[in-house]
Amino acid sequence: MADRIVCKFGGSSVAEAKQFQKVKAIVEGDKRRKVVVVSAPGKRNPKETKLTDLLYTTYDLASKHLDFSTPWKMISDRYLDIAKDLNLATKIGDDLNELENKLKNEIEMVTTDFLVSRGEFLCARLMAEYLGAQFVDSYDLIAFDERYRITPKSYETIAQTLADENKLYVVPGFYGEGPHKQVKTFSRGGSDISGAVLANGINAIVYENWTDVSGLLMTDPRIVENPKPISYVSYREIRELSYSGASVLHDESIAPCRAKNIPINIRNTNRPEDAGTIIGPTPETTDYPITGIAGRKGFSMIYIEKSMMNKEVGFGRRVLAILEGEGLSYELSPSGIDSMSIVVDTKSLDAVQEAVLEDILLQMHPDRVKVFPGISLVATVGHGMTNKVGIAAKLFNALAEKEINIRIIDQGSSQINILVGVDEANMEDAIRAIYAAFVK
Ligand code: ASP
Repeated sequence: MADRIVCKFGGSSVAEAKQFQKVKAIVEGDKRRKVVVVSAPGKRNPKETKLTDLLYTTYDLASKHLDFSTPWKMISDRYLDIAKDLNLATKIGDDLNELENKLKNEIEMVTTDFLVSRGEFLCARLMAEYLGAQFVDSYDLIAFDERYRITPKSYETIAQTLADENKLYVVPGFYGEGPHKQVKTFSRGGSDISGAVLANGINAIVYENWTDVSGLLMTDPRIVENPKPISYVSYREIRELSYSGASVLHDESIAPCRAKNIPINIRNTNRPEDAGTIIGPTPETTDYPITGIAGRKGFSMIYIEKSMMNKEVGFGRRVLAILEGEGLSYELSPSGIDSMSIVVDTKSLDAVQEAVLEDILLQMHPDRVKVFPGISLVATVGHGMTNKVGIAAKLFNALAEKEINIRIIDQGSSQINILVGVDEANMEDAIRAIYAAFVK
């Protein structure tokens, strides 16, 4: 079996003709790059709107029989410009006219998912022609079941359809075939998932995810100036980091690659010489004790105190059942002997707070129950921390020196993550302090 690479290009990488040219150079730069997945064209500058968003607006207007010509013109102009600038012979104008007519005359037959999926569909058409590659519709490759999970059969279909190892294929990202033959999109940013699923299906040696940054940084550059880049991060670490606020790629794109140990390489289309970040299996050794630090605001802590709580069988379960009854999921629950804290998302709690507190009072008879809003969670993540003495002490010292009060401490037994809860106002200082303590 020949080594093949799946490369996915995000919205900014296909935003205009000059980006298409960069994509071509990248694809041709390594003969193993045989499957190209594209997003819909993104912004050419910060003031612009992504085509996917314009397609949502268009659908909204068209479905209310309102004038949709303004967003529609922006959409069609973009595709026509790319085709013209690259001298493509394509009949993209015909495709656009056909779509416009459907929106005007048969809107009842058009679904939102179908219309927005055309963003990647048309982009992939142009890219296939430009690269001299074969276009394959993702509708014919990826299928969803009734619960919108990807069917196992999709992976077989991918392997069979993209079987020719000498051929270059271009596939639109973001959608597949729904359980009732309709076009079904993933959640936003879902082209990342399409690429990962294709990488799994063809047993790619690497899944390259081309974007507009040269990989991940150890922490948010808006908080720490010039943080060090991360050259390698494990699948497990990235899950912990992205939960706590680091955003790189769609979190559902990890599992299909992880299932086959396919490394994901985040690369920069505008700086192809940069090696980027590799997301892969757990490493044997690491350079730093920590791999990254991420923080997220918007949490509240429900604090419950009751003497002899530890002797009351089922106390924790019953409290969590109250939350479950109100449809509230919890993030973590650090506990003491006679107290229990439950960290929840503030927005979700707001809607049901009164009912939750009333139920806790009536059913659990606590000595005290109180909600503390304004909590942020800061995650310090790294396999390098496993079985090393003194890491937690160093971290807490760093926070103490900056006089940051720690409200919550949680270290998972896997030891790859130390989570601290601090007041939202302290989050940035906490991240800076931890970074300075561990990274020289
Ligand atoms: N175009 C889609 C979005 O904007 C999917 C993607 O770009 O991954 O969400």
